[in-house]
Amino acid sequence: MHGHSDVVIAGGGPVGAALALALADSGLSVQVLEARTDLARPAWTRTLALSYGSRLILDRLGVWQKLQDVSPIRHIHVSQRDSLGQTVLHAEEEQVPELGYVVDYGELDAVLHAALQDGPVRVVTGARVTGSGSMAGYGWAHVGDDQTLVTARLLAIADGGSGGGRRVLRDYGQHALLAWVRPAELRQDWAFERFTGQGPVALLPQGDGNALVWTGTPERVQELLRLSDAEFLSALHAHFGDRTGGFVQVRERHHFPLQLSDSAETVQPHRVMIGNAAHVLHPVAGQGFNLGLRDAWELAQLASECARDDLGSPAMLARYAKRRAVDVRASMWFTDGLVRLFSRDDPLLRHARGAGLMALQQLPAVRHFVARRMMFGARAW
Ligand SMILES: Cc1cc2nc3c(=O)[nH]c(=O)nc-3n(C[C@H](O)[C@H](O)[C@H](O)COP(=O)(O)OP(=O)(O)OC[C@H]3O[C@@H](n4cnc5c(N)ncnc54)[C@H](O)[C@@H]3O)c2cc1C
Repeated sequence: MHGHSDVVIAGGGPVGAALALALADSGLSVQVLEARTDLARPAWTRTLALSYGSRLILDRLGVWQKLQDVSPIRHIHVSQRDSLGQTVLHAEEEQVPELGYVVDYGELDAVLHAALQDGPVRVVTGARVTGSGSMAGYGWAHVGDDQTLVTARLLAIADGGSGGGRRVLRDYGQHALLAWVRPAELRQDWAFERFTGQGPVALLPQGDGNALVWTGTPERVQELLRLSDAEFLSALHAHFGDRTGGFVQVRERHHFPLQLSDSAETVQPHRVMIGNAAHVLHPVAGQGFNLGLRDAWELAQLASECARDDLGSPAMLARYAKRRAVDVRASMWFTDGLVRLFSRDDPLLRHARGAGLMALQQLPAVRHFVARRMMFGARAW
């Protein structure tokens, strides 16, 4: 471990590793401090829906082609239980080859680290950051039990939020149940987002089946986890409806609590939070990693372009915060708004939402706006 580098990245998950890779050719000395001792064991078991915009970034980082297990999304079907309204987004209509992709978190993490392996970036494993802050001209981090001091002109915290200092903006009182399921009738390249009074349920294409994200109260999710496979499949069929002719197989059920939170202090002189360290969203529209990847990309662009003396300065990080503000706020507002709007089981509201989905289906310009936001985020400049 080096005592000082131009850039230190605390946390080598997919966002931290993407930032490191984006800086690899910048001429800056870059060091990643990752708590895991074994990079072959990912921090999480989950599937990620990537937007087309994220694919373009991963392409530029030279890792997109390395991913083996990619399931494309060419159509997104949005509907509401017990109501007629529905909207369908098509890649063809948006003039892109795909609207998005489903990849495995562990595989993405692994290809990013493989790409870092032979380059100039130093990745230190077993390096848990226990504290960090900023002082005149530097960001600092304490590492490990012996509190080794590491400093940088720019300290980027990408620890997924494990370092604390979080503000819970909304506790949804919901858990997400994640699993892989095989539907009776597989619709290749289709993703389904279905809103129900108990919370949204999403089916994403994954290999020869679907990644399932089923949200509900913690009690309901615990009940669902206890069901036998056959009972679970029939409960899912009843909840999701007939669009895939039911379900025939389930594996890997696990769950996760859902909150909207952000960091109380995203930017300090010479220290910045990115990815889930800066903001944690509800997974309803699969936006979290996509937003974090855009954080990493923008920060790398600014760090590569600025004079060395300006690296991590209040002025440079103010430019970063300004560039990211609209996208971050719009993504938080969009996912939070969706969950709140669609989670109330009020008959009048249900009809209004159904009419809204029908209107969206009839208005290509509005559909196009929503699709672009989901693929590329919102830009401030
Ligand atoms: C149920 C669920 C489904 C989701 N689905 C999607 C989706 O479909 N699409 C999408 O875009 N996003 C999705 N997300 C969000 C996505 O998982 C996160 O946005 C993404 O993982 C954030 O990446 P990260 O690198 O910021 O943090 P993490 O993935 O949490 O990685 C943090 C890294 O930092 C390391 N670390 C932690 N603490 C320390 C420390 N103290 N010192 C050093 N290293 C440390 C960890 O070992 C890890 O490697 C989902 C989230 C959930 C909960």
